[in-house]
Amino acid sequence: MGEPIQPVRGMNDVLPEHIAAWQHFESCTREVLGAYGYEEIRVPLLERTELFKRAIGEHTDVVGKEMYTFIDRGGDSLTLRPEATAGIVRALISNSMLRGQRHKLWCLGPMFRHEAPQAGRYRQFWQVDVEAVGCPGPDVDAELIALSARLWRNLGLQGLRLEINSLGTPESRRAYRARLTDYLRAHSTQLDADSERRLEGNPLRILDSKNPAMQELIAGAPLLTEHLDAESRKHFEELCALLHAVGVEFSINPRLVRGLDYYNRTVFEWITAATSAQNAVCSGGRYDGLIPQLGGDATPAVGFAMGVERLVTLLVRAGRAPAPVRPHLYVVVNGAAVTERALQITEHLRDQRPGLRIELNLGGGNFKAQFRRADKSGAPLALIVAGDELARGMIGMKPLRQTSGQSECPLDELPTAVDQALRALGALED
Ligand code: ATP
Ligand code: MG
Repeated sequence: MGEPIQPVRGMNDVLPEHIAAWQHFESCTREVLGAYGYEEIRVPLLERTELFKRAIGEHTDVVGKEMYTFIDRGGDSLTLRPEATAGIVRALISNSMLRGQRHKLWCLGPMFRHEAPQAGRYRQFWQVDVEAVGCPGPDVDAELIALSARLWRNLGLQGLRLEINSLGTPESRRAYRARLTDYLRAHSTQLDADSERRLEGNPLRILDSKNPAMQELIAGAPLLTEHLDAESRKHFEELCALLHAVGVEFSINPRLVRGLDYYNRTVFEWITAATSAQNAVCSGGRYDGLIPQLGGDATPAVGFAMGVERLVTLLVRAGRAPAPVRPHLYVVVNGAAVTERALQITEHLRDQRPGLRIELNLGGGNFKAQFRRADKSGAPLALIVAGDELARGMIGMKPLRQTSGQSECPLDELPTAVDQALRALGALED
């Protein structure tokens, strides 16, 4: 016997007991996205490393130290996707889908980042990614944010707070970046090691530092919002007005910058009050420059990604996750001699009542053991297939969570008898 093989650190199994919560999250998400006209797209988990380097930026943490990159057998450098936007944009270009057209797309799947695993932070984690491609105006930004707010309402999640900011154009950001770098250099003795490293490559990221010792320095830094170009300021003011108009509450956080380089103008983040660390559940923004940077026709776009594990955890904590699915019926098989008939009867009932969840006792066992399994299954009703009843054309039926006794019904009336019994037990959704 070999040693058990260890799972990969930071990569989780989603066990059957948690699937109901995940599926509930997924179906609510699909429904809301459908209501806004978004279409699903599925892109590969692997892309050429170059794609992420060009899209996300060499100076970001993601590209600098978090990617799962390897050389495949053909000698190509490939990377497990750390996020979905780059792959979706690549797909739009590869499939000639741009050319002045608009697309509203979403994608669900696992992402991979080599981070320090902890609660709410994993090395494989799932995201729902939503992208609106082809519109420059703040109306699409506002609608995207309203979509996310509607999803929280439909899921029954409370206590999520929205922060927004504008990063301006790349030009205004460059001017601001120079001022910020001057300020930080003038206070270089107060920088921690991480910030010193970021000072040259990605100084805006320093504003995002969680280090308490850095907060005073950050609070005194010049504000990006004060350096916005006129167009970006107008875009941002319109976005704020549109959010007011549809009743989405927000606060402006002038220090909100995103970890990925490709954003311009609108950035936003939904934050939960339920956890102190790993409190961002959904982040996004506008990325008008990314598509040409990846070789596509210049096309404006805006999008966001939400962290499925973090949201499912909130759902479960709020008691809004549905109970695990239980069978309607458990079929007890009284003796090996009736195994074949039991299988036939169960298959036939599945033909006649496709919606019923029927668990047939497999692998034998005495009567007592089978009823123990039946109880454990959570089914409200047992069917009992036994030789003497079958000889009379009958089948036994017994409620499992009530004291009322066993009854029997003619085999050819089984579907209606089951319907009636389940209804009487309150176990059949009409
Ligand atoms: P964080 O600040 O928490 O590191 P981020 O800025 O890196 O998040 P994005 O890259 O914008 O996040 O991803 C969008 C969402 O995906 C986040 O808001 C979060 O909910 C989720 N997410 C990001 N990284 C992880 C991770 N390692 N494990 C679990 N969820 C994650
Ligand atoms: Mg991160």
